[in-house]
Amino acid sequence: MDIQFLGTGAGQPSKARNVSSLALKLLDEINEVWLFDCGEGTQNRILETTIRPRKISKIFITHLHGDHIFGLPGFLSSRAFQANEEQTDLEIYGPQGIKSFVLTSLRVSGSRLPYKIHFHEFDQDSLGKILETDKFTVYAEELDHTIFCVGYRVMQKDLEGTLDAEKLKAAGVPFGPLFGKIKNGQDVILEDGTEIKAADYISAPRPGKIITILGDTRKTDASVRLAVNADVLVHESTYGKGDEKIARNHGHSTNMQAAQVATEAGAKRLLLNHISARFLSKDISQLKKDAATIFENVHVVKDLEEVKI
Ligand SMILES: [Zn+2]
Repeated sequence: MDIQFLGTGAGQPSKARNVSSLALKLLDEINEVWLFDCGEGTQNRILETTIRPRKISKIFITHLHGDHIFGLPGFLSSRAFQANEEQTDLEIYGPQGIKSFVLTSLRVSGSRLPYKIHFHEFDQDSLGKILETDKFTVYAEELDHTIFCVGYRVMQKDLEGTLDAEKLKAAGVPFGPLFGKIKNGQDVILEDGTEIKAADYISAPRPGKIITILGDTRKTDASVRLAVNADVLVHESTYGKGDEKIARNHGHSTNMQAAQVATEAGAKRLLLNHISARFLSKDISQLKKDAATIFENVHVVKDLEEVKI
């Protein structure tokens, strides 16, 4: 599981940072990629990665500000032009209004897609668990921005223990249907009367990962709830230390507030994005240094950077 950042800038693109988008790559887990936000130019960034647009099966939108959604019509249209590739449906999750934005853009531009889009819109009253599959559950909660904006908590379900085939062979279990039974947790008795207890040959289940991806927000308790025990928290850092007042006025956070959220939530790792173009590279290292005085495992991400989870 990896996160690849496609756009890490705030508000408008700069030479170094495009506007918001990131890809949660779940290729080993479910052979899918989930996109979070889709600022203008996201499709160009994707061209610089190994991500195949067809693999993008779900798009989660945090809020309807342009720097988070203006890349959608372009991306959706280009996704249709993949010769020799099977056209797979797409799910879009986001605040009420996202469907009308997408359908209007496609209609007035005369764009017809050869695949279906299923929209899942929500508002203040329909948040909570927004998606459950056999391997993942996704929750959304309202944050505190200048318009309705949410954060997402992606929870991987616990992973089953694995069967120790070598140990089974050593115990004299013949390869075949018995392996399957033991893997399913069934105890078996061999022909010679030996009892094989399944639990002795299956490793303990491993806890699934928790990934928290927040939209734009002031510091709020909802962020902490979404990030409880998260393996990774992706938090905006539009402003730096000392800018708390201006951050509040504009509906954003500072690096210090992001670090406080990570600490309060007991998150393991903090990745700062949504970085203002005002920050030069020496300011970026300062952003990290200052935040690290509150939460040590912090990193300011760059466009195209890939982070293993
Ligand atoms: Zn915004």
